[in-house]
Amino acid sequence: MTKLLKIDTHIAKLIKLETDRQKDVLEMIPSENYASTAVREAVGSILTNKYSEGYASRRYYQGNRYVDEIELIAVERAKKLFGTPHANVQPYSGSPANSAVYFALLAPGAKIMGLKLSAGGHLTHGHPDVTFSGHYYKTVQYNVEPNGIIDMNKAETQAKSEKPDMIVVGTTAYPRNLDWKRWRKIADQTGSLVLADISHIAGLISAGVLESPVPYVDVVMFTTHKTMRGPRGAVILVTEKGFKRDPDMGKKIDKAIFPGLQGGPHDNVTAGIAVCFKEAETAAFRNYAKQVLVNAKLLSDVLQKEGLTITTGGTDNHLMVIDLRPQKVIGNIVAEALEVANIVVNYNTVPHDSNPPMYPSGIRLGTPAITTRGMKEREMKKIGKWISLVIQEVVHYRLPEAKEERNKFVKNVNGEVWKNKKLLGLGKEVRTFARKFPLP
Ligand SMILES: *Cc1c(COP(=O)(O)O)cnc(C)c1O
Repeated sequence: MTKLLKIDTHIAKLIKLETDRQKDVLEMIPSENYASTAVREAVGSILTNKYSEGYASRRYYQGNRYVDEIELIAVERAKKLFGTPHANVQPYSGSPANSAVYFALLAPGAKIMGLKLSAGGHLTHGHPDVTFSGHYYKTVQYNVEPNGIIDMNKAETQAKSEKPDMIVVGTTAYPRNLDWKRWRKIADQTGSLVLADISHIAGLISAGVLESPVPYVDVVMFTTHKTMRGPRGAVILVTEKGFKRDPDMGKKIDKAIFPGLQGGPHDNVTAGIAVCFKEAETAAFRNYAKQVLVNAKLLSDVLQKEGLTITTGGTDNHLMVIDLRPQKVIGNIVAEALEVANIVVNYNTVPHDSNPPMYPSGIRLGTPAITTRGMKEREMKKIGKWISLVIQEVVHYRLPEAKEERNKFVKNVNGEVWKNKKLLGLGKEVRTFARKFPLP
């Protein structure tokens, strides 16, 4: 970054500091990962200079012969990797991609049925208050049981009485497999379209370690920057089932992305997506995906042996949620204390959380990023013990009953944990450990 250092020292310095931070910590936010150097070279390339509204050989700008080829390669690789007849690689990110699916296939006011945010769904799956998906569509939300698992019989009853136009199946904090086949059966009885939002698990599905929804659903959406390990972006796939239902489904999706919602695609990102798909075709990536699951399973076992509660009692995928209600400490404080110890997670609601969403009772953590750095079973055992130690260190902090006191309480405690000698000492140990596993 020699040029950047000269032109803008401040930004260059901040990027350097962030680079060091990424090296120093155990990155365990399950939606994060490290893109390869090859992916970053593509994203940082001169392709950022180009405008290419439209699609290959139907552009509204001249000079797109190379960009056309790049986009076609990305599209072909996506189709091959997931086994679908159609792919759109232009969505800027996951949320715009979901919007495009709704705009393409639903009339305004149509009914969407998605998993509740607090149960591990995504805002764009029809959250009734704060997103467009709840404002411009009628939404119904399904929930998990108190044990954290989706009861498919209940989902069926709900779908039959609500008759949604679209069922969205996808999660951000659900540690169990999704029953794609059953969702299809339900949708066939209610006439609903099915969108599989596999943002978190796309890399694991492409590697064949988790079941693919492609044979069962109409449309698939995923972000490219989570387990897929590409740049920030998203892809929409139309399946054979989707085309059978509506031969124009591919065209409708393409039109909803451009000109419906977006302008020019980010061609540098498209190139990065093409590169991550090439990497995903390798045996090394398949082994990586296997290890992500092995690591997550082992980590959840270790945490449970340490006496912690994992929602649903374990995990089938890359993530888990620790339910801190038995310890009576909130996720915010544990997440902050873990950061002092250089372990980065996020606070999260637990199923049927009795605490408000601002002060939830859980933390969410996962293994995609640390597995990219080469960590395996031995490391999971250490990390599990560290996490347990940190929780013990803050377990005495109780959220006040009075609502007005809560904000100040969290601020004060967070100030205190950054002065905790034990946590700071552990932070040093974790940093030395993390530094032994280079970033890609
Ligand atoms: C991450 C995610 C999204 C949104 O992706 P952004 O790129 O953050 O907009 C949508 N759905 C699910 C299930 C996700 O996990």
